Amino acid sequence: MGLVVQKYGGSSVADAEGIKRVAKRIVDAKKNGHQVVVVVSAMGDTTDELTDLAEQVSPIPAGRELDMLLTSGERISMALLAMAIKSLGHEAQSFTGSQAGVITDSVHNKARIIDVTPGRIRTALDEGNIAIVAGFQGVSQDKKDITTLGRGGSDTTAVALAAALDAEVCEIYTDVDGVFTADPRVVPKAQKIDWISIEDMLELAASGSKVLLHRCVEYARRYNIPIHVRSSFSGLRGTWVSNEPQGDQQVEHAIISGVAHDVSEAKITVVGVPDKPGEAAAIFRSIANAEINIDMVVQNVSAASTGLTDISFTLPKTEGRKAIDALERAKGTIGFDSLRYDDQIGKISLVGAGMKTNPGVTAGFFEALSDAGVNIELISTSEIRISVVTRADDVNEAVRAVHTAFGLDTETDEAVVYGGTGR
Ligand code: ASP
Ligand code: MG
Repeated sequence: MGLVVQKYGGSSVADAEGIKRVAKRIVDAKKNGHQVVVVVSAMGDTTDELTDLAEQVSPIPAGRELDMLLTSGERISMALLAMAIKSLGHEAQSFTGSQAGVITDSVHNKARIIDVTPGRIRTALDEGNIAIVAGFQGVSQDKKDITTLGRGGSDTTAVALAAALDAEVCEIYTDVDGVFTADPRVVPKAQKIDWISIEDMLELAASGSKVLLHRCVEYARRYNIPIHVRSSFSGLRGTWVSNEPQGDQQVEHAIISGVAHDVSEAKITVVGVPDKPGEAAAIFRSIANAEINIDMVVQNVSAASTGLTDISFTLPKTEGRKAIDALERAKGTIGFDSLRYDDQIGKISLVGAGMKTNPGVTAGFFEALSDAGVNIELISTSEIRISVVTRADDVNEAVRAVHTAFGLDTETDEAVVYGGTGR
């Protein structure tokens, strides 16, 4: 029996009852002969509440101080969890990200892990302890300041520790039974997937599926760590995410793995851009210099009479203000008429490696949207994904329509959402 890393999300440890329930599960893994490392998130919606609190005292909280504040959420849950395990008669020790050796760069609020040196965790395990680690945090290599990895970052902590400790598996416990063919909060007829390839999972995560963070899946791919996503409430077998299916993991030869949606993006349209070389480069250089990641990009054909065109792109809503400011500042050198900002958009994506070899997927996708009366504003594709932007109000309807059209609806059991607000 090897080492397992288990990660429990905020909804699994939302209250004292939850913490005790999770403690029992951890102790069971230990009794089965595993060495157990646990990564835990902040209780319930603690991180949101702390963020709200920070905004009440300062409109733009200082990054370093915000990280100090937010990491306290995970400290609460790790200490309580260690206490609960001890009261079940087993040894446990809790560690902050810094104590666990999670070393990051110094970009506050969205730091990247650059190294993991889990010496203290190893020692704790060798002494017979269950090690509990605060998720979503680390310490910066140069300044030795406390950092956070960005919202949902505990998943990344878990996979990074699993890689550094050479774990057998990284189990991600959440409030649903695994990865579904769509968000079960929106599509009650979504089906649990038994096994999904890392590639498809990466696309789903990049397309807004919240069950696993993109960065965490990237990490798992790089270090070849199998992830088992499952519920802390049901004990059922969940979804295996790995390069190749193992053992009796069922592989259904579906063309489509799932439908993802995302309402966290906004669209900026740069109106009246001269249609000549260097314009798009200048626009996106100013966005890049502001450290903003963009998603889709569309340029219209220019009107022959004016020689002007429009360029639209999508980006996280949270970066909207910064992007508009950056473009306004560069307006003189780039040369465009005006900017339009629209945050009432949603994105729907169809993902599956099978679409490479099956004609008609794009047509079927657009037909389903048209039958549902949904208008398409932008389109982008990769080898294994098609995404469209629509009005935000249309998104839920569109996801259900596409899910049904591709035969993904389950006939038997409806998906269960055990907890959490999906916030
Ligand atoms: N507590 C942090 C958040 O809510 C990290 C996590 O849950 O993974 O984003
Ligand atoms: Mg959380």
